[in-house]
Amino acid sequence: MSIGLRIGYGEDIHALVDGRELWLGGVKIPFERGLDGHSDADALLHAVMDALLGALALDDIGKLFPNTDPAYRGISSMKLLEHVMRLVCARGRRVSNLDTVILCEHPKIGPHRAAMRASIASALGIDIDAVSIKAGTNEGFDAVGRGQAIQCKAIVLLEAV
Ligand code: MG
Repeated sequence: MSIGLRIGYGEDIHALVDGRELWLGGVKIPFERGLDGHSDADALLHAVMDALLGALALDDIGKLFPNTDPAYRGISSMKLLEHVMRLVCARGRRVSNLDTVILCEHPKIGPHRAAMRASIASALGIDIDAVSIKAGTNEGFDAVGRGQAIQCKAIVLLEAV
């Protein structure tokens, strides 16, 4: 028997490159490089969206918002998240809580954590206390550890309205 709870998981990785703004969690972060991608390449919001879609057992964001579609070129991932949240609401669900991890060598995430939590909480229509953002490094291993990319992971719980 269902108790109305649905769990979802998502992750994303984007390369850090010159000449791009860095957006994470809907917040513009001052840094000399930014994430490469078709949209604003906000890897944290992309992981959150895939977690939400996973909880609904829907397609991933690559299917929903193809990077071959010029409509999504340079688009704010917040706009895409608004669309995903409409799908959540349309299915009679709301977010219970969200837990995320950002893996990167630079920049430091701590000073931006509160702003990112507030931004995501607002987009999901939940209290800031229900949004967790943790950060870590990859200790020199792989592309993230060499400072060439930022990877984000998210897990979300949905409840019936
Ligand atoms: Mg992505």
